[in-house]
Amino acid sequence: MTPEEAWRALDLDLADYLAKKGQKPSCRAGCFACCFGLVTLSRLEGEALLPHLTEAQRGRILQEGPGRLALLAQGKEEADFPSRFFRSRTPCPFLEEGLCGVYPYRPLACRGLLTAGDPALCAPEALAPKGHFLPVPWRMAHRKMEALWEEEERRYGFVVIGEMVSLLYLLLQGLPPGRQEVEALLEAWGVLGGRWGFQLIPL
Ligand code: SF4
Repeated sequence: MTPEEAWRALDLDLADYLAKKGQKPSCRAGCFACCFGLVTLSRLEGEALLPHLTEAQRGRILQEGPGRLALLAQGKEEADFPSRFFRSRTPCPFLEEGLCGVYPYRPLACRGLLTAGDPALCAPEALAPKGHFLPVPWRMAHRKMEALWEEEERRYGFVVIGEMVSLLYLLLQGLPPGRQEVEALLEAWGVLGGRWGFQLIPL
C-alpha cells in the first residue's frame, strides 16, 4: 500500500463508517484548532508529502525544523509535552489563512482526528472531554498507519516515526540510508526514543 492509497482508502472508509453510524463531523474548512497539535507520521508519508510542497512551505519547514527538533529533545520524556505544545498555540507550518495548505496530501493523523461535538472544545485551552474526538475514526487511521509501516519496513528494512515538521526537515536534509546512521543522526539531535521522540521499528 502506498501513502496515496492509504489516504484515499481512509477517506472512503471514514465516509462509509460515518454514513452508516449517522454521524456528522462538525469539522469544517476554516476550523483549525487541532492544527496546533503535534502531528506524527512515518517516513513513507513524509516522502509522499514532500514533492507537493510549495517553495514557501519548504522554506517554512527548513526554518522551523531545527526549533522543533530542539523542543522535542527537551520535552520528549515529559508526560505533558504534547498538551503543553498544544497550549503554546504554535501553528502547523502548513496552516495558511485558516486552511490546510497541503489538504490533499495531509497525513493520516490529520485525517483521522474528527469530532461530532462542539468545535469550541477543540481549542487548546478547552480541555476537550473524553470522547470528544471520535475514537473509531482515529483507530481506523491508526490501522492504515500500521499498513504503511509494514510497507516501509519492506522497503527500507526499518520504520522511522516522528513529529511531522522535524521528520520533514530531516528528509529535506537527506535521511541517511542505513538504520545505524539514522539512529546516530537522531541521537545527535537528542530526539531518539522516550515518550514522544522518534521511534525506529523494529525497536
Ligand atoms: S497538515 Fe494540514 S490538517 Fe494537518 S495539522 Fe497541518 S494544517 Fe492541519
